[in-house]
Amino acid sequence: MNHKLELRGVTKVYKSEGGEIKALEGINLEVKPGEFLCIIGPSGCGKTTLLRLIAGLEHPTSGEIILDGREVRGPSSDRGMVFQEFSLFPWRTVLRNVEFGLQMRGIKKKERIAIAEKYIGLVNLEGFEHHYPYELSGGMKQRVAIARALATEPSILLMDEPFGSVDAQTRNILQEELLRIWERTGKTIIFVTHSVDEAVYLADRVAVMSARPGRIVECMGINIERPRKRTSVEANVIREQLLRRLITEHKKVGLI
Ligand code: ADP
Ligand code: MG
Repeated sequence: MNHKLELRGVTKVYKSEGGEIKALEGINLEVKPGEFLCIIGPSGCGKTTLLRLIAGLEHPTSGEIILDGREVRGPSSDRGMVFQEFSLFPWRTVLRNVEFGLQMRGIKKKERIAIAEKYIGLVNLEGFEHHYPYELSGGMKQRVAIARALATEPSILLMDEPFGSVDAQTRNILQEELLRIWERTGKTIIFVTHSVDEAVYLADRVAVMSARPGRIVECMGINIERPRKRTSVEANVIREQLLRRLITEHKKVGLI
């Protein structure tokens, strides 16, 4: 199946009482089916906005977003989103959280449970089906969020700094699990991160965004064989290049 995603000249301007904020300007991007794309850039450069546009939760002020030859006009189950903050429903168990999208689509209970169980297994949470979010660690909550996003079987998984608030060791484990899921399911993943290390470990390609208004200033292919070693010489060289590019952008917004 072809799930090509294309952004053509996408600009987003937010209008508020204080005036207009140009969050994104002239974003051109093509994402291949099955590609793992990381997006990196300084805080406030429009990364979340970009994901929300692709998800169909916001609309471009100009330009267009084309998925499988059709313009994206709103949210749809072909795109699943995992947010930075734990966005689980606290009053629902793990199973009921993962079932949520399926329930919205009117899928019968028995089938819903079977699908939810499958994805709970995929993120290694068997045995926790009847736990509530408050009983889980941060890493486990993000696994539930991933299972919930996968349950409706989207072709594109949109992830907004999903591992930003878990400890370093858990983060490494979650990265490995995500790669395993990606390899197994063949999904297209668009993954926003603050971390150059994370981008170089995960991505086929890294898009570097400029300070506001967000533009894509560089797209770098990460041609390192998988499974990757975090400490290889090649990884170090690419990390260095990306870091240099990113520091330039951070300087522009006075973050350094
Ligand atoms: P990032 O995720 O890269 O930190 P965001 O996409 O959240 O950046 O925000 C980009 C810019 O757009 C910021 O200046 C932010 O304040 C502004 N912005 C984001 N959402 C809204 C909104 N709903 N209304 C007005 N301004 C917004
Ligand atoms: Mg953000």
